[in-house]
Amino acid sequence: MAENRKLKRVPSSIQDSGGIKDPAEALRRATETHHFDPETSLETKAVCAQPELKGQGLTFPVVPSISVASTYRINRVDEYNDCLKDGYIYSRIGNHSCESAAHAINTLEGGLGTLVFSCGMGAITTTLLTLLKAGDHVIAPDSAYSGTYSVMKTMLPNYGIEVSFIKACDVEEYRKAIKPNTKLFYGETPCNPCLGVLDLKAFADVTKTVPSAISVVDSTFGSPILQRPLELGVDVVVHSCTKYMGGHSDIVAGSMSTKDEEILYGIKAFQGQTGSCLSPFDAFLLLRGIRTLPLRMEKHSLNGLRLAQYLEQHPKISRVFYPGLPSHPQHDVAKKQMSSFGGMIVFEVAGGLQPAKTLVESLKLITLAVSLGSTESLIEHPATMTHGPLLMTPEDRQKGGISDGLVRLSVGIENSVDLIRDLEQALAKV
Ligand code: PLP
Repeated sequence: MAENRKLKRVPSSIQDSGGIKDPAEALRRATETHHFDPETSLETKAVCAQPELKGQGLTFPVVPSISVASTYRINRVDEYNDCLKDGYIYSRIGNHSCESAAHAINTLEGGLGTLVFSCGMGAITTTLLTLLKAGDHVIAPDSAYSGTYSVMKTMLPNYGIEVSFIKACDVEEYRKAIKPNTKLFYGETPCNPCLGVLDLKAFADVTKTVPSAISVVDSTFGSPILQRPLELGVDVVVHSCTKYMGGHSDIVAGSMSTKDEEILYGIKAFQGQTGSCLSPFDAFLLLRGIRTLPLRMEKHSLNGLRLAQYLEQHPKISRVFYPGLPSHPQHDVAKKQMSSFGGMIVFEVAGGLQPAKTLVESLKLITLAVSLGSTESLIEHPATMTHGPLLMTPEDRQKGGISDGLVRLSVGIENSVDLIRDLEQALAKV
């Protein structure tokens, strides 16, 4: 079975397009400049992880510089293939800034390799389009990030790829939806918009029952500090690095990490050919964000729990979804696979649409905006914004548990007392 799963997981046409025939040869592993021993913590790795820079002199920059060159001089034409393999030749295919950010993410995720992308959707679509071909079947959750849902629902079918939507975070539903042509199991955890938690180990195990099938998980809400899907057997983990990894609302970026050589090479070849590469300037900011990720996640989680507890006891709030609350339907799964529970809270304002709108428009400190995972707190109303009529019908919203009173709060790293005071004054107006 293991052999079966390893072979032919990526269409061979894509593998052949990379120019180098042996995936193992093409995967130049970045060499870490520090000696991490097995006990080295994620906090330390997030701060220190840095790959060797080719052609160094006597000193080494403590922070990788931004590689602005779009192309690289080569000395002899016969060295071209070696440069492709061991150096950089053209920035779309690789540069030191992107490799430094990818290396740090890979160190935290515990992967064989990581690639960085122009945005989270770039990482997700490149992964899907590399791994799938016409005639394949995908099993995906009925509620996920709206962009992912839209790609699955409206775009993949145009390429002859069949998608079955199942109740999010229910592993048994994945098992029941398996067909002879199932190729990819897709999950998101904690998931948009209601913060359901998928049992990552059980999800990976179901995927392994189907020869050559691949599991892909969007781990954006957790970040590698709170959960590491690859360690639990998941094949591919994707992130919108626009969120916690970048962490400051000043870049859009994405990542894909895997322990599977064939998948890594396939996606690298596809990205190299089709684009969606990250700008070196944004790669620099992404790496800078990663350096403080463990600290920020600790504060997001602390604030998240405090605000979730405050909201849960408030008479104008009818329901709170936060993986760290015992009332969360998958609290036990969350406790098992997450080191703490992050800064995302979803809650229902009693009375539905109008009270929810009044609340989000009355806040003075917390900003009404889409996106999440930044230092400042952001709030949004899914039924009119991210999961509104432009994307979903009322029936789809109902199926995904997105009620009119639902509000999504991304808790930042401000003082939690100030945030609670802001919610208090806004709730008084509801
Ligand atoms: N995945 C999740 C869970 C998200 O929340 C988002 C964006 O909000 C994305 C993917 C898409 O990421 P990006 O906006 O960086 O393309």
